[in-house]
Amino acid sequence: MVVLLRTLGVLLIAAGLIWMSISEVVLKQSHGAQVRGMILAGAGLLAISIVLSMFSRAAERLGGRRCPRCGKPVAHGHIYCSDHLKEAVNQFRDSQRQKGN
Ligand SMILES: [Zn+2]
Repeated sequence: MVVLLRTLGVLLIAAGLIWMSISEVVLKQSHGAQVRGMILAGAGLLAISIVLSMFSRAAERLGGRRCPRCGKPVAHGHIYCSDHLKEAVNQFRDSQRQKGN
């Protein structure tokens, strides 16, 4: 979502600049209002994407821990989700067994 908005914003600004140069160089007409609208819309989308990414980062911090393997939220005091807890315990046991040999 954030990446899509950012990409659209950059594309709109780039399209506005390209349209400005095409209309002035090729068509010999100035489309100042259109160009300004496109660049403003692109800048608006960029600003929205920045605000959204800040909010999602803040929400991640408030939301507590997440599983480092799949990113699912985990219960308080746990490191891994239930799926990956078993996997982590098995890996730890295997590594301990290899050390013993
Ligand atoms: Zn997981």
